[in-house]
Amino acid sequence: MSEMQAITVLGAGLAGCEAALWLAGQGVQVHLYEQKPVHFSPAHKAEGFAELICSNSLKAERLDSASGLLKAEMKMLGSSLLGCAEATRVAAGGALAVDRDAFSQAVTALVEGHENITIHRERVERIDDSRPVLVATGPLTDGELAADIQRLIGGQSLSFYDAAAPIVTAESLDMEKVFAASRYGRGEADYLNCPFNKAEYEAFHAALSTAERAPLHDFDADGDLTVYEGCMPIEVMAGRGADTMRFGPLRPVGLTDPRTGHRPWANVQLRSENRENTLYNLVGFQTNLKFGEQKRVFSMIPGLENAEFVRYGVMHRNTFLNSPKLLGEDLALKSHPNVWFAGQITGFEGYMESAACGLLAARNMLAALRGRTLPPPPADTMCGALIRYITTENKDFQPMGSNMGILPPLESHIRDKRERYAALADRAVASMQGWIDANQL
Ligand SMILES: Cc1cc2nc3c(=O)[nH]c(=O)nc-3n(C[C@H](O)[C@H](O)[C@H](O)COP(=O)(O)OP(=O)(O)OC[C@H]3O[C@@H](n4cnc5c(N)ncnc54)[C@H](O)[C@@H]3O)c2cc1C
Repeated sequence: MSEMQAITVLGAGLAGCEAALWLAGQGVQVHLYEQKPVHFSPAHKAEGFAELICSNSLKAERLDSASGLLKAEMKMLGSSLLGCAEATRVAAGGALAVDRDAFSQAVTALVEGHENITIHRERVERIDDSRPVLVATGPLTDGELAADIQRLIGGQSLSFYDAAAPIVTAESLDMEKVFAASRYGRGEADYLNCPFNKAEYEAFHAALSTAERAPLHDFDADGDLTVYEGCMPIEVMAGRGADTMRFGPLRPVGLTDPRTGHRPWANVQLRSENRENTLYNLVGFQTNLKFGEQKRVFSMIPGLENAEFVRYGVMHRNTFLNSPKLLGEDLALKSHPNVWFAGQITGFEGYMESAACGLLAARNMLAALRGRTLPPPPADTMCGALIRYITTENKDFQPMGSNMGILPPLESHIRDKRERYAALADRAVASMQGWIDANQL
C-alpha cells in the first residue's frame, strides 16, 4: 500500500491505539499523533498510551452480560487491546481488571514496535483532512483542537459537559403503578409517569436531600455545573426546599393517576431513549449522586422499586459531538467525509466501548481507502446497537455505554433475565460473524 494510502490518527488513547494497530496490521501506513508528554489533560498523568484515567476495571467478561458481549465482539473484530488486557490482568472476580501501568506499557510496546506506525509526540491544533484522519482525542479534548472541531462542524454541536439523567429498562418498571400520558392529554401519550402520594414524596425528598454526592474533579468543578441553564442537579433542587421539585420537573399538573382518579402529589416523568421503547430516562434527573445512592434513592420513586439502571446519571467534563446530527453510520462527519471520529468523543461511553469504536472506525476507513462502503454491524450486535444509538436522532443526545437494553428485543420474550441475556448474546455473536463473513474485512 502506498504512502498515498496513509491515514492520520489523532490521540493514542484507547480508541486511537486500537484503530492504529488494526489499520497497521492491514498494511496501512499510520501517522499517530499524541500530545503526551508535551501536554497532559487534567486527568492524564503518565506518558504511555492507552492510559486508564480512573478505574482499572474493564468490566464483566461473562458473555451473557453487556460488557462481556462487547468483548466477545471485539475479539471477533481483531482487538489488540483485549489481548494486552488479558496479559496484564489482576484478580477481580468475574471482571477483567488490569494493572494499569502494565496494560499501558503493553499497548505502547505494540504501537511503538509496529513498522507501519509512525508516532508523532505533539499536540495537534488543527485537523488536516488532506488525507483520511481519525479524531480520537477523547473526552477531555480542548483548546485549539476543540475550536478547530467546532469550526469544522459549525455552531454548537460540541458539548463540553455531560449532564445525564439515569436510564432504566422498560421491562423493569412496575406497570401497575406507572401510567402512560402526556400533560393535559396533549399529543400522544409519550411519557411514562410515576405518581407520588404525599407521604411517598416526603420520604423521597428527605432521602434525596441527604444522599451522598460524588466528589468532583477540579476540572469538573471548573465549569460550575450548577448554574448551567436547565442543568441543576436534582439533589441541589431538592435542597432548595420541599416543594421546589414539585414546581419543577416533578410537577403533577395536567396529569391524572388512573389508579386514584386524582392528580398525583408529585410526578416523575420517564421519556423514551430509543425507537424500540426499551429504555427510559428520568426527565430532569441530572445528578451528581454516587451510583449506589442513585440506586437507593431513585428506587423510592413509585414504579421504580425494582428498576434496572443501565446508566447512572453523571455530571462531568466530557467533550462529545452531537453525533446523531453530525456522524454517519461509518463514523465519518457527514459534512467532511475524510474526517472520522472514534472513542468517547462520539458518545461511545467507556474504556472498552471507546476501543471498540476505534475498531469500527478503522474498518470503515480501510473500506474507504479501498473505494468501498461498509454497512454498519447489525443492530442486534452490541457494536451495531451502539452505532445506531449514537447516530439516530435523539433530542437530548448523551453518551451511552454497552447495555442489553439497547439491543432489539428477542422475537419471543424470555422471562428469566439470565437466559434472556444469554439468548441476546448468542444472537449478537452469530450476527457479528455473519457481518464479518459478508464483508470480508
Ligand atoms: C475523568 C474521567 C474518568 C473516566 N473514568 C472511566 C472509568 O473509570 N471507566 C470507563 O470505562 N470509562 C471512564 N471514562 C470514560 C472513557 O471510557 C475514557 O475517558 C476513555 O479513556 C476514552 O477513550 P478515548 O480513546 O476516547 O480517549 P482517551 O483514552 O482519553 O485518549 C485520548 C488521547 O488523545 C490525546 N490527545 C488529546 N488531545 C490531543 C491533541 N490535541 N493532540 C494530540 N493528542 C491529544 C490524549 O492525551 C489521550 O492520550 C472516564 C472519563 C473521564 C473524563
